Amino acid sequence: MAFQCRAVKTPATHAPSLQAIGGAAFPRGSALLANSLLNKGTAFPEEERDALGLRGLLPPRVFTLEEQLARAYANFQHQAEPLGKYVFLTLLQNRNETLFYKLLETHPEEMIPIIYTPTVGQACLDYGAIFRRPRGMFISIRERGRIAEILRHWPQTDVRMIVVTDGERILGLGDLGVLGMGIPVGKLALYTSCAGLHPAYCLPITLDVGTNNGSLHDSPTYLGLNQPRVRGEEYHAFIEEFVTAVKRVFPKVLLQWEDFGNTTAFRLLRDYQKRICSFNDDIQGTAAVALAGLIASLRETGQSLAEQKLLFLGAGEAGTGIADLFCAAAGDAGLSESEARARCWFVDSQGLVVRGRLTELAHHKIPYAHEHPPLATLAEAVEILRPTALIGVSGTPAKFTPEIIARMAEFNERPVIFALSNPTSQAECTAEAAYKSSGGRAIFASGSPFPTVEFEGRTFVPGQGNNVYIFPGVGLGSLVVESAEVSERMFLVAARTLADLVTDEDLALGRIYPSLTRIREVSVKIATAVAREAVHSGLAGIALTDDEIEPAVRRSTYQPAYRSYI
Ligand code: NAD
Repeated sequence: MAFQCRAVKTPATHAPSLQAIGGAAFPRGSALLANSLLNKGTAFPEEERDALGLRGLLPPRVFTLEEQLARAYANFQHQAEPLGKYVFLTLLQNRNETLFYKLLETHPEEMIPIIYTPTVGQACLDYGAIFRRPRGMFISIRERGRIAEILRHWPQTDVRMIVVTDGERILGLGDLGVLGMGIPVGKLALYTSCAGLHPAYCLPITLDVGTNNGSLHDSPTYLGLNQPRVRGEEYHAFIEEFVTAVKRVFPKVLLQWEDFGNTTAFRLLRDYQKRICSFNDDIQGTAAVALAGLIASLRETGQSLAEQKLLFLGAGEAGTGIADLFCAAAGDAGLSESEARARCWFVDSQGLVVRGRLTELAHHKIPYAHEHPPLATLAEAVEILRPTALIGVSGTPAKFTPEIIARMAEFNERPVIFALSNPTSQAECTAEAAYKSSGGRAIFASGSPFPTVEFEGRTFVPGQGNNVYIFPGVGLGSLVVESAEVSERMFLVAARTLADLVTDEDLALGRIYPSLTRIREVSVKIATAVAREAVHSGLAGIALTDDEIEPAVRRSTYQPAYRSYI
């Protein structure tokens, strides 16, 4: 049976034609070698070298993709430092995307921490110094009035996925201005490598409205406008023009808001969620990955979701996003909205979030400001509230002290400890501290990866509660059925699907997320569940039956392989 859709269409294959990628006059010679989407480097076969004017522009020996892969991997390993590996991968991506994605697909556990957190954090800090050539688009506030025209400069006309930042809150590193471009670039590489979204559909964008990071103003390598951030009406008019232009130039696009400062992020999500198919990964993607971890942890604790009491350190985008989605899930489990909210507590930089602070609290914290005497510290809050789970999303390191973890382990047989702040340097505690201070009983997850921990004869493999498990699948699922929106329920089904994919073997290792080696399969399953939710809720633009959805998702995934050009 087909469900009601906005419009009934044939399923898209989601593989752009060579003409769409290369343009009407397919590039030849050095222009072909310079096109990273089409370039095969030394793998151009003899016939194509003759037909496409490549003779003499390449060394004579023809390599296979597998041979190129082996050479690229050896070069990757040759780099001693993570930042060197990042630069190597960036140059490869700019040269030959097929080979780049083949490398990522073959070694995901090694590559993802380089192109994304934690190494991407260092790469953003050093972005001005390691900059070789631009990737993606930079649109500055000085270009107001011309944004649609500028978007048309992008060589691909059929863009489906944009990740956009204004660089104000890059990971837990704060305002990095245009240096934050490493994040949209990295996230889109994950869309392709983890979910198989075709790279030709992806466009990273950084909006430059200035920066309030004074050290960047003084830096000779800073690449953005040397001015304080534009705020208020002028900023919002700029964003309004941007969204309108994106809709006009790329009508099928899904827009992901990324690493905006928290007041801006909540407002943009609220203002544009229904006007353009969009979501905020820091709020909603984080929420889904954390909820998946909580759901998976119930198999270890033997408790129900409704029995959980969550204490968050940090009441920003990530924290309140997780709490909102937890409440939606707890609602499905039978709790009323107020009962669910009463199970979520927050400590921010001023102490426990309580009713008495109502006048100074930001809008997003108010639903979680409970009637309670003020408490100044996390330690006091743990002592009095006795939560089942401690969730760190404060961007401040080492706040989960050994004493706090030990107390959690006294109240709970299996305390849930999530230190989600990125990059690794900002994590609220290390995996080792969580396991050791809890006598090996903590159910631990972190935002950035930690190495395995040996403790009292056991080996623990810490799970990485990273959004990479969620957003690629959510994006792909939404695009496959051309959903009009990315709804809260789509994130809810994504979380449940992810939790279901955690195996007993994962849990036995202490890991509440699947291994990253399974990320392609995880993303396909999440995309399928998300697309089904879009169809069932009437948001889909493409009519598919339940049975048709997974094959459609699989058909639409990009495989890094060379296509013939003649
Ligand atoms: P945010 O700026 O919106 O919120 C940060 C919150 O932490 C604010 O409420 C702030 O008051 C609070 N805070 C700051 N210092 C504190 C302190 N010393 N004690 C208590 N609270 C304090 O940022 P966000 O988007 O919520 O992100 C927070 C962190 O979570 C970042 O490090 C980010 O990298 C991380 N994060 C991780 C993932 C993941 O995949 N695991 C996803 C999103 C965000």
